[in-house]
Amino acid sequence: MQAAPLPANEAARLSALERYAILDTIEEQAYDDITYLASCICHAPIAAISLVDAQRQWFKSKMGLAAAEMSRDIAFCAHAILSPGEVMVVNDASYDRRFEDNPLVTTDPHARFYAGAPLVTGDGEALGTICVIDLVPRQMADEERMALQALSRQVMAQLELRRHVVELDKLSNLDGLTGIYNRRALDLRLHEEYLRAERMHTPLSYLQIDVDLFKTYNDSYGHLAGDEALRAVAGLLRETARGYDFVARYGGEEFGVILPTTDGQSALDMAERLRMAIERAAWKHRPVTVSIGIATNTPERQAHGLLEQADQALYRAKQQGRNRAIHYAH
Ligand code: GH3
Ligand code: MG
Ligand code: MG
Repeated sequence: MQAAPLPANEAARLSALERYAILDTIEEQAYDDITYLASCICHAPIAAISLVDAQRQWFKSKMGLAAAEMSRDIAFCAHAILSPGEVMVVNDASYDRRFEDNPLVTTDPHARFYAGAPLVTGDGEALGTICVIDLVPRQMADEERMALQALSRQVMAQLELRRHVVELDKLSNLDGLTGIYNRRALDLRLHEEYLRAERMHTPLSYLQIDVDLFKTYNDSYGHLAGDEALRAVAGLLRETARGYDFVARYGGEEFGVILPTTDGQSALDMAERLRMAIERAAWKHRPVTVSIGIATNTPERQAHGLLEQADQALYRAKQQGRNRAIHYAH
């Protein structure tokens, strides 16, 4: 048996596959319909839409096959993707060097005939195939070959729709100016974190961060310079926060940071680190500072009012002279 060599464009191919975010998704009728048509048109008992991942082939849809995935080493489709423009046809696998002792041929399902049309992206990367398998050796008619290719284009059309949805979904959670999460994403995440903290009996903290006297910054240096400063603040917050903290633009010159599993004292420490990172950064026009309001849910006292509490604490930080972090006092 010969495992297929890797395509020359393997790294680009895998990153293309990742962009479609299709691996390990649930069954969908649209794909099952195409698989069914492939089986009917090619008069084959087995048909599948297969995606070739780094180590495995995974089936988005299948008929007549039990396994959800199998090793790439034994995948016929791993050979088919080597020629993206062609349907690979194996008339009798038991007389083909590459497949004669392949377990799919020598044991269940005892495949003899295989035809696979690569699923090819606009950039020419073959992600996998739509394929049919028969248990007896046979030929493939030209119409069958062309129909299988037409179906492979239909699968790609489905995959393209999916990629657009994935990309739009990502964009709808990001702030256009700063590139960090937006208010919508913040609200969703905070709700999830409330539930998680209740379930796990962990503390949860939230920081409301407001840039000090930002109106005068705009007035003095213009709105474009103001925009640049907001982008820089966003970058500093993200660099300084921990990987599992959630940093978002709340709106205007305000930011929100969710600190999961973080108690009041640790939240105060983190707020101080963020405040100092901004104070100490090299600013082009004049130093930029922020005021921070902090609120914490403890394992014993969980409520959904962290935003309001942090906002009240922020108000006090402003009153007390700005460029400081204050924890909400119950
Ligand atoms: P304070 O310390 O009390 O927060 O003073 P402040 O001047 O920051 O407060 P105020 O709420 O009066 O002003 C906020 C300013 O933030 C006004 C607004 O023009 C500016 N701002 C809000 N969003 C943006 C933005 O996207 N870009 C720019 N350049 N400025 C923004
Ligand atoms: Mg403000
Ligand atoms: Mg402000």
